[in-house]
Amino acid sequence: MNCGFCNLDRSKNPEIWNTVLFETSNFFVVPTLGALVEGWLLIVSKEHYLCVGELDSELFEELEKLTFKVSNFLTKLYGDITIFEHGPAVPNQLVGCSVDHLHLHLAPLSFDLLGATKNIIDLEWTELVDFKQSKEYFNRSKPYVYIKNPKNEQFIATSNVFPSQTLRQAIAYEINKFEKYNWRNNLEIDHIMSTIKTIQNSPFYTECDNLELSVYD
Ligand SMILES: [Zn+2]
Ligand SMILES: [Zn+2]
Repeated sequence: MNCGFCNLDRSKNPEIWNTVLFETSNFFVVPTLGALVEGWLLIVSKEHYLCVGELDSELFEELEKLTFKVSNFLTKLYGDITIFEHGPAVPNQLVGCSVDHLHLHLAPLSFDLLGATKNIIDLEWTELVDFKQSKEYFNRSKPYVYIKNPKNEQFIATSNVFPSQTLRQAIAYEINKFEKYNWRNNLEIDHIMSTIKTIQNSPFYTECDNLELSVYD
């Protein structure tokens, strides 16, 4: 399969952005290429899934606990964290980050991402009680964008005309870096390096270090 995450051999690719910051049985936490702000991480599944909507139901609890812990950890370092996903329903759709492998974004944003998305595309948002409801979208081949704001409110929207990297565009526009929304052309290595340094030097890092054990407590 031609998948950047599945084909990645971390021992042969020691680039800084491949640094694993946290890990559980089924997920990695890594910095994101194209971090428009410092402190932006990705939770990536070890097995290949297209999006959270496709994830096996048994893995949801692990994902939710990990997301909760990493988000709390990041909040201590950077303030309010927004969680979001570009959920393609089939490979090679524009809504994805041009990465067709499950990855959930966690980023410290000082603005309301849902509101900022209006600058890029008009969407009808539905409030979710459970992220698992994304399955209904995936199963009906509906691409989606998902946002969980710092108040823990969750929203999802679908469209047939999502622009490429929709939520990255919304963030880049809001922080006046619109020309940098495409991560392929703007790796933002300085942000990646400072993120790793801040996290690894944090006094909270050791307590979070081995999420493998604590994720199931
Ligand atoms: Zn993959
Ligand atoms: Zn993405």
